[in-house]
Amino acid sequence: MWPRSRTIVAVILASSLAWIDLCSVAWPREAAKVAQKSRVPRKGTVGCDRSKFRIVLDVGHTAEAPGAMSARNVREFDFNLGLAKRIEEKLKADGFAETSLLVTEGKAKPSLFKRATAVNDSSAKLVLSIHHDAVPESFLEEWEFEGRKSHFSDRFSGYSIFVSRENRKFVSSLNFARLLGLKMKKQGLQFARQYSQPFMGRYRRKLLDKNAGIYQFDHLVVLQRARMAAVLFEAGSIINRDEELAMSSPERQDMISAAVTEAMQEFCKLR
Ligand SMILES: [Zn+2]
Repeated sequence: MWPRSRTIVAVILASSLAWIDLCSVAWPREAAKVAQKSRVPRKGTVGCDRSKFRIVLDVGHTAEAPGAMSARNVREFDFNLGLAKRIEEKLKADGFAETSLLVTEGKAKPSLFKRATAVNDSSAKLVLSIHHDAVPESFLEEWEFEGRKSHFSDRFSGYSIFVSRENRKFVSSLNFARLLGLKMKKQGLQFARQYSQPFMGRYRRKLLDKNAGIYQFDHLVVLQRARMAAVLFEAGSIINRDEELAMSSPERQDMISAAVTEAMQEFCKLR
């Protein structure tokens, strides 16, 4: 979610209001209300036909505007595509036959609106946007990797999950986000805590759930425009050198795919 240099400009434009600072909201009371309203109901009370439960896995960014660059100079888009394919395989193997990947082409700004249109044409029950995290440019440090000047930040790590209050299925989105966060936690993974901190400045977000690692990000285009439940998932950091290696490993990708699949099983039952 942190494209550098030229692409960051495009994404800022694309999200237009995406980076609006929400710091002035009365957070704790508001967060408590949200937590109460969207408490995850008991599972298994409603039937779930996995074979008909349509899911879109939206691969973040495009080949042309590939998002962040990892500490070892791999494009975020490549990480997103690899993980999304693995999640797709796992979901299909689990009976979610109507799972599809959404790979969008083109420049950053038009691609956001294109993908929102594609998602709304899909009649999916849920769209899950797959991303990998980095840091704002001011936090980057220099190092050399395989003889090439590169950038990293080992300061932060972890996954994070974003939902938009402007999504028309906000409560449903939050329910899935919570299930996903709790499954990630069950896998022993921790969420990225920096987004709620004042030093994040305009990138600071409201933490909606401190157990599951869910932040509010109202103006993300796909979440805002999707007519179904929509969640953006930063699966882990690729600018942190250790976590980048973990994110590249089949073991970590399997853990994350299992978390998404288990969350989906329970989310499907809630419908
Ligand atoms: Zn991204």
